[in-house]
Amino acid sequence: MPSGVAVVPGWASEHDNLFTVMKVPMTPKDPKARRNVLRWLGPLAVVQTMLGSPLATASEPPRVVASILPIHALAAMVLGDASQPALLVPPLASPHAFALRPSDASALAGADLVVWIGPTFEVFLDGVLDEIAPDARHLVLLDAPGVVQLQVRRGGVWDEHMHDEHDLEHADEHAEDDHAEESDVHDDHESAIDGHIWLDPHNAQAIVRAIAAEVIAMDPDRARTYRANADAAIVALEDLDAEIAATLTAVVDRPFFVMHDAYQYVEARYGLNVAGSITVHPEQPPSAQRLIEIRERIGALDRPCVMAEPQFPDRAVAVVVEDTDARTGRMDPLGSGPPGAGAYGIMMRALAASLSGCLSENVTD
Ligand SMILES: [Zn+2]
Repeated sequence: MPSGVAVVPGWASEHDNLFTVMKVPMTPKDPKARRNVLRWLGPLAVVQTMLGSPLATASEPPRVVASILPIHALAAMVLGDASQPALLVPPLASPHAFALRPSDASALAGADLVVWIGPTFEVFLDGVLDEIAPDARHLVLLDAPGVVQLQVRRGGVWDEHMHDEHDLEHADEHAEDDHAEESDVHDDHESAIDGHIWLDPHNAQAIVRAIAAEVIAMDPDRARTYRANADAAIVALEDLDAEIAATLTAVVDRPFFVMHDAYQYVEARYGLNVAGSITVHPEQPPSAQRLIEIRERIGALDRPCVMAEPQFPDRAVAVVVEDTDARTGRMDPLGSGPPGAGAYGIMMRALAASLSGCLSENVTD
């Protein structure tokens, strides 16, 4: 392995190589910028500094900060050897309940480019990004060209109280009494776009293109590299899409429940049969009433799967499957690491394998 490089599990692993080698970015000579990079990369940059690193090109690789692991992975695929993006929400944390830490603020303060879904998804960045990362460009992926958008789901099983038509008179009472606060949350989401856009590999391709366009504009000296990396990523994502479709094809009709409604894009892409989510607002624990209603729904179906998520406590799943013939599994819409260019493929394959595993058991049982 060449000196001064860090090895991370890479996308290329499916094409014979076990690892993609990613170089640590060059350390600038200016003391202030140097401090920023050292803070950015920690021990890796120290190694690089000791080895010395003359600048080979005029423009610097941009320092990229990505909000969540799968977006970080897509950014890492584009940047390749040029630099490593920083990650805000660590594996196993939920972006729906995340709060910025001092180390995140430092990373953002030194950023050239912040890549995130948008203010309705990473609410912890909403309204503070201009202040914390004033010098950075902000790439809002919900608005990126080619990203297919789906509305946040409302009505029926996706609503707090699953009102049927004849329940509407009760809905008014709810809104006026002790549920006033919940109604506010509802209103925020009414017209919102579902932010879990990365779970469709075709959206991931559009995200790769959008990140590539940004870094090419910021670092034109490496344009050919970024373009080649993006092209390779788009081909790999196409292969991944076909692989996921093949994994899921036998189970597309089987019903399953999820912890929170993160999977609409997977569902739309592969024609899956999601029957409902345990939580309506992932930033709040489900109410006892909600758990009872979901358990009734589960009981009415023939051996559905109920999928837990590592970002949420398992207790709710245990409660809703009690005294039903449902099976349980676990899937992770974010991936649990390690961060790097390979994390997106690892996350999607694991998600499809978990789902297929749980639902196949039901088919053959
Ligand atoms: Zn989510």
